[in-house]
Amino acid sequence: YSGRSGTQLLTDSLNHIFVKDYQSIPVVVNESISVYDAIVMMFLEDVGTLFVVDKQSVLVGVLSRKDLLRASIGKQELSSIPVNVIMTRMPNITMCTKEDLMIDVAKKLIDKQIDSLPVVKETEKGYEVIGRITKTNITKAFVALADEKF
Ligand code: ADP
Repeated sequence: YSGRSGTQLLTDSLNHIFVKDYQSIPVVVNESISVYDAIVMMFLEDVGTLFVVDKQSVLVGVLSRKDLLRASIGKQELSSIPVNVIMTRMPNITMCTKEDLMIDVAKKLIDKQIDSLPVVKETEKGYEVIGRITKTNITKAFVALADEKF
């Protein structure tokens, strides 16, 4: 027996659970698509958040379910409004990298009161989206802690 307490063992485990082991495939849309098409995309891809990129595939925004609902309340023609007028835009996007710890991502989701984060890679042009972490991925990591699968 190592003599380490349960709390220390749990802390050690949390320090070994990385984004790269739990990330999902991101769903990205171009900034020029309409709010209407973004709604269709969200249903077809079965995700709660879409990441918005420019024509160079650089991250420029985030679209949540409520962003799309809010835009739908008004009397505007949804097929003529581009998503880049309603999205949350850079530099106000909370991101992570695949080397980050899941516990740190979980803290960001709570601090910012958001459901998901893009996993990004920095390039000369900006940030490229390579994955996504949602509350579901956090829940999977939490369950894996009980199964000692790490
Ligand atoms: P919902 O709005 O459907 O409840 P969220 O809680 O994830 O979903 O989003 C709340 C707000 O925060 C939205 O306006 C959304 O654009 C924005 N948002 C979501 N994810 C991020 C993120 N990673 N970085 C910055 N803003 C975000």
